[in-house]
Formats: sequence, C-alpha cells, structure tokens
Amino acid sequence: MKRCLVCGQSINAQQDFYHWLKCDSLLCGECLSKLMPLRKSYQIDRLKVHVLYEYNDFIEGMLFQYKEGLDVVLRSCFLYENKRYIEKRYRKHTLLLMPSSKEKTQERGFHALKEMSDILKLKKLQPFYKSENRKQSALNYEQRLSIGDIIQLDRTIPLPKRRLLLFDDVCTSGSTLTCAYHLLQQQNQTAEALVLCAHPLFIERNPCVK
Ligand SMILES: [Zn+2]
Repeated sequence: MKRCLVCGQSINAQQDFYHWLKCDSLLCGECLSKLMPLRKSYQIDRLKVHVLYEYNDFIEGMLFQYKEGLDVVLRSCFLYENKRYIEKRYRKHTLLLMPSSKEKTQERGFHALKEMSDILKLKKLQPFYKSENRKQSALNYEQRLSIGDIIQLDRTIPLPKRRLLLFDDVCTSGSTLTCAYHLLQQQNQTAEALVLCAHPLFIERNPCVK
C-alpha cells in the first residue's frame, strides 16, 4: 500500500476522485485538502511574484518537518502537484534559487530549495549567497523588511540574458526577493519570481496582477 509522505496513512485516504483516478499522488487526500492553492501573481515594486499556495499552519508544518526535522523524503511533494503547470508556464526559464546560509546547508546536509526544485525540468542556478546567518523566523515583520541587505550576487556565475525566475519556498515580506531583483537590475537583468507559498499579510498588502 502506498503511503502519504507527510502523515503516513494510505494515499487513498479521503482522496478526491481526480487524484484517485490519476493515481500518482505523494500526499493523501486529507493532507492535500489542508493545502491552500493560490496560483496568483502579486506585484511588489517592479517584481511580479507568482504564488502557488497561501502559507498556513499545515504547510509550515511540512516545511518544518523537511528543513528542521531533516525529513528529506518530503523534498518532491512540495512542487509535485504543480510540476507540469510550472514547467509549462515557465518553459525556457532558468530558476535562480534563493540562498540558504552555508552553515544551515552544512548543518542539514542538504540544500533544501535545490532538493525541492529538483523535480522540475528547468535549468537551475545558485548565483546568490548570504553573507551572514540570521534566522528569519526569529525576526519581526519590520526586521524582515530589512533582511535584503545581506544577500549578495556572485558575479562570476554567468546568467542567461533572458527568462530568469527567482525561486523561494516562503515569501514573508518579499524583501529577499526584491533585494535579489535589485541585484539583477544592477546587472541590467530582469526577472520574475515564483514562490511555493506566501504569508497572508503579503497577499493582503500587495496588488494582485495578471
Ligand atoms: Zn497525509
């Protein structure tokens, strides 16, 4: 019997007809129903951010289990339901992964975002790095707005001229993404962004665009 990667119960538990028929889910129906799919874009400065899910307790728990509980088996399940959608929408794009601190990656033994995005058949690069380890969750909303300062662009990594897509798992204030965007602008580059999930405040505060 195939089991849900998150909760361990049968994959068919409370599965809706579509997923039951597709027969290739990684999560059971109960877990899938706790996710809040969005697939909407928001404008922050001149950056367009496409959001797959609204951040809630369930996805927070999944990310915690994956990143802090080191449950690396979960890596494929975050983007699985949107894999074809992303590959079609962002065909020919290059994913620029937002940086994790070196210490954090070493501590975990895996690069959380890289493992998560591995299921996408898109080119991926990691041109950004963090110059200081400051845990975002320990900061308040205003402090998170200023965190952008510590992201740097490694100019030795050649970037394609077009179709760059910043990718992150959680968008709280959007400051990390806009900082990365400004670093690219300094190089006369432009980009869009894709995030797994965005905080309800981000969704509320920024205009939704096509
Ligand atoms: Zn489940």
